[in-house]
Amino acid sequence: MTTVIHHATIVTGARDLSIHFNAAIAIENDLIAAIGPTDEVMARFPNAENVDGRGKLVMPGFANCHTHFVRILARGIFEDQNAPNRPPFTRKRRVPFPPLRPEQRAAMARLGVLEALRSGTTAAMDITNNIQDYAEAIVATGLRLVLAEQVSDRAKGVRVGEPGVFEADPELADKGLQRIADLHAKWHGAGNGLVTVAVAAHAPDMVSPALLQALRDLREKLDTIATIHLNQYWGEVEVIKNTYGMLPTEYLARHGFLQERLVAAHCRCMTPEEEKILGASGASVSFNPVVAARSGNSPRITDLEASGCRIALGTDEFTEDMVQVLRSAVLIERLRLKESERPRPEEAMLWGRLTATVP
Ligand SMILES: [Zn+2]
Repeated sequence: MTTVIHHATIVTGARDLSIHFNAAIAIENDLIAAIGPTDEVMARFPNAENVDGRGKLVMPGFANCHTHFVRILARGIFEDQNAPNRPPFTRKRRVPFPPLRPEQRAAMARLGVLEALRSGTTAAMDITNNIQDYAEAIVATGLRLVLAEQVSDRAKGVRVGEPGVFEADPELADKGLQRIADLHAKWHGAGNGLVTVAVAAHAPDMVSPALLQALRDLREKLDTIATIHLNQYWGEVEVIKNTYGMLPTEYLARHGFLQERLVAAHCRCMTPEEEKILGASGASVSFNPVVAARSGNSPRITDLEASGCRIALGTDEFTEDMVQVLRSAVLIERLRLKESERPRPEEAMLWGRLTATVP
């Protein structure tokens, strides 16, 4: 069966950033068969079912490379209580995220996926712990998913970005590694191959060297993707400096966690030297512009891209609206660069595709 969407504006997402105006796209058995001027494509497929695309845009689905579906109702409120950018980096009067029962988490996650689909997202990396609670509910939606089970072993309930010296709890590490293995055994390759189970280290200041190495080995064994919140808070940088005498990206490099199938989220509190280290590894950076703006600190995306990182986009715990993310990415990076034309929307569009992320 063939469908032709005609008289539309078509953005292919190809590297040449081309946009086809008043154009048509022919889809034959789920595959794109042709893109070109409306007259030509319609003449080539005379028996196709035609869809009038006037006033509409046809474009690739978005890939949201950093989200937490179960926190969909947070709407970024918790970003307003985030760790400050100045010493002593302690959070005051922080309202904790309310505890949710597994069925409540499943309801939130489903709501998150619905909102994602509504903005044109066709692939998403969901990062949290105990994904097993709600995996079934979101796999059933048909969205392409990377389920990244997050682990940490920082003792005494200390939160990410909080100052101090790292202390490990080996029991937390063992339980976390087991959760990833269990989720992988059950869900990797599910949904006709649309589900990937990934390995998530929470953040450098939440994961001991031993756990980081174990996660590196597990990722290799499972031959999958890894992710981490990297250089997200200045408090995180302080912990790593105080404990190991180095910077967070150097810490990951030291323990072999940097590689091209890693998605490093945030990368805001980063030195130019760290950007070069990350770029040389070929890792992807998930630029989460809405939460970056909310925390008053945005990564040097143009520099990270120039250093060799692939740039991807994420919502983090804001709304799942990837159109808002794309728009914010352009505006925030222009403001940071003090440039009127860079980055172009077409360039940000390339960041929002699935192929932007991991090989
Ligand atoms: Zn996050």
